[in-house]
Amino acid sequence: MHATSVSSAVFLALIAIVDANQGSFAPLTKRELDKPVIQPPFYDNKLVPALNESLQTTEHTIDLWANNSIPSICKSAIEEQAVDGVLLTSGPVEVFSVTYADCDTPWIMCRHPTASASRQTMAELFGKLPVRHRSFVRHLSAAGGDSGAYSSGDNVFMAGDSSLAVTVYGHEVGHSLDAHFFGNETGFTETDAWLEAYDEDEVVVQDYAQASQAENFAQMVNVAIYTLNFPGGIANLAPNWQQFSHMLDLMTNELKDVLTQGGECRNRLENSPLVSKSGFGSQTSSVLSSESSSTVMTIASPTSSPAPGTRTRALHRRQRQHQAK
Ligand SMILES: [Zn+2]
Repeated sequence: MHATSVSSAVFLALIAIVDANQGSFAPLTKRELDKPVIQPPFYDNKLVPALNESLQTTEHTIDLWANNSIPSICKSAIEEQAVDGVLLTSGPVEVFSVTYADCDTPWIMCRHPTASASRQTMAELFGKLPVRHRSFVRHLSAAGGDSGAYSSGDNVFMAGDSSLAVTVYGHEVGHSLDAHFFGNETGFTETDAWLEAYDEDEVVVQDYAQASQAENFAQMVNVAIYTLNFPGGIANLAPNWQQFSHMLDLMTNELKDVLTQGGECRNRLENSPLVSKSGFGSQTSSVLSSESSSTVMTIASPTSSPAPGTRTRALHRRQRQHQAK
């Protein structure tokens, strides 16, 4: 069920297909990690609502595009998604730029009208992530259908209710940290440092973390965000947190700068090329309407190609979003 490979320094091809259709409380059909989940549980019932409710978003403006352009990665992700057995088309997709106060360069996001999250919710939840964490993402897309999310080539796609929880955003961006924050030939979760920390711990933080080391890491990213941004740390929510302290300590040490709120964006990744919603070919786009106030900006047509292997995906079982509502 799980294999990893690296096709470039900036892309970790994760093939960690998990049944996105199973109910949120259904047990995993296959576990790759053998450590138990911490007791009492804290992730879904405490951490998810705590982060959703208490992380402050970053001031932002949303500019809805009024033309026919769409980042190619948004188009392909949405057109692979089915709702009620019917594949979606990108014609009705809302493409919008979100400019946060801590970054001059906007993020271009895409939303199919079937998506659970509104444009405002997507921008607000993504804006809760620390800005240097956000900087590891090119595009976010959301659509309807069964809940599930994946990260591919530093792009995040969220289906169903997965777009309603900040922990899904944190988890998916976490895969990019694993893939290329550390500059390793392999993902960080394949290094001795991570595997030894795992070996020294007694538990994982939540059942989905048992799926693979990549998922274990991505789930822990949300724990680290809480730890680094709230006084008292994860002990507030998980009295037995020391049972996973080696992994958490390693992550909070290595990623302290990335996962702490404040500061400004850096090293923004190149956007996916723009194509026509209804066909092919690059376009230059301009923002023709603005939901917020002021800024009308021209989005230059990017020249980069998608990262190698962008069709490979890590598909994630929903992370119990209902508890985050
Ligand atoms: Zn994942």
